[in-house]
Amino acid sequence: MSRVAGDSLVIRGGTAVLPTGQRRVDISVRHGVISAIGSEVHDDGDTVDARGLMVLPGVIDAHVHFNEPGRADWEGWEAGTRGAAAGGVTTVLEMPLNAHPPTTTVAAFDAKCAVASQKALVDFGLWGGMVPENLAELESLHHRGVVGFKAFMSNSGIDDFQRVPDGVLAIGLKTTARLNALVGVHAESHEMVERMGAELIAAGRTDRLAWCEARPPEAEVDAIRRLLVSARGAGRNVRVHVVHVSCAEGLAAVDAARSKGVAISAETCPHYLAFTAADFERIGPPLKCAPPIRDAATRDALWQEVLAGRVDLIGSDHSPCPAADKTRGNEDVWKAWGGIAGIQATLPVLMTEGVHARGLSFERIAHLTATAPAQLFGLYPRKGALAVGGDADLAIVDPEKQWTLDSKDLQTRSGICAYLGRRFTGKVVRTIVRGQTVFVDGQVIGRPGWGRLQKPQATR
Ligand SMILES: [Zn+2]
Repeated sequence: MSRVAGDSLVIRGGTAVLPTGQRRVDISVRHGVISAIGSEVHDDGDTVDARGLMVLPGVIDAHVHFNEPGRADWEGWEAGTRGAAAGGVTTVLEMPLNAHPPTTTVAAFDAKCAVASQKALVDFGLWGGMVPENLAELESLHHRGVVGFKAFMSNSGIDDFQRVPDGVLAIGLKTTARLNALVGVHAESHEMVERMGAELIAAGRTDRLAWCEARPPEAEVDAIRRLLVSARGAGRNVRVHVVHVSCAEGLAAVDAARSKGVAISAETCPHYLAFTAADFERIGPPLKCAPPIRDAATRDALWQEVLAGRVDLIGSDHSPCPAADKTRGNEDVWKAWGGIAGIQATLPVLMTEGVHARGLSFERIAHLTATAPAQLFGLYPRKGALAVGGDADLAIVDPEKQWTLDSKDLQTRSGICAYLGRRFTGKVVRTIVRGQTVFVDGQVIGRPGWGRLQKPQATR
């Protein structure tokens, strides 16, 4: 049975990942908020038996594309947030592009908020876009409550969301610095990837590795360095965030800027940690993305960065499309849409490849997937940690459970997912959003319309 707000609930006997570390506790929830955490809380509400399980703060996935309104056939808010629920994700921050209209005006923000409010099973925040023609709109979008602005330094792959040349980015960053707003940047060198792609196409290359060769780590590093030039010119309050960094070289460029006092952060994604270029050769279009999947040595170096604490947060970059837009690239990689349906995979990948294979701690997982995004996007402490007074957003996981992702588990609309058939150790068993169970025992039981808009604290 699904529950309604106002009920009380006790999660008993789980090992909770608290801000102070792991502890076996009971967690009491009233009216959707954590009301007590302790060795034996006294509460006569309904009980969830969490003995033998880990209780994490719900994942805040800071990077998803749900494509609605306008391209709901690609995914949509209901399918997307069903996937979120199944993945232990309790808040999504949704990107401004691939929906139509893109979220580059206040009217487009309102249109997206309306459909999301009707359909979302989990809480959500909305990114705004920074494109060449909307610099005058940034301030009103900021006051409307966007969590940040997304800008592309290379082509976005979609005509209604144009990239920002360096000069435009430099001007846009002056505005966002004045607003103290965050800008998330897709940092790949437009000039480099266009030239290298054209050369490979001219040489007749259609194979999957050609996509990787056209977009090398150097293209990321070049773009990050140029982003920093623009950021330096924008003044002391500039805040920049590099999305989906795929390589240690990119993180080193971010780190060097941070050590000079720039407010910069970096995201990586589970697919760069879970797959190698050899997997891309085998699996093909379901794994096509930009930046591309890297070779094994680059993947291993990226893991070292995660373990060393040089990655700020992990977001899925969930970006599905109709099945035909993937399959048409089976024989010619350039024809496939780029984007990975991965919203359900973040915690399973981090448990399997992180905790079990490389000694990543659950405290680091909680930080990378919940606390850090909540802090960066102004949602902390209402969200992002298991603490009294915070929203009761929880992901309850069985860290030892071995399982295989099957098409019956998959919520994404197209049915296409690079992780299908993959073995995991560690499974999400229950997801709770503001005290309401939205996923349990393999079933999504949340209701569309439960999700609420989350605005950064500074603009609420
Ligand atoms: Zn994206």
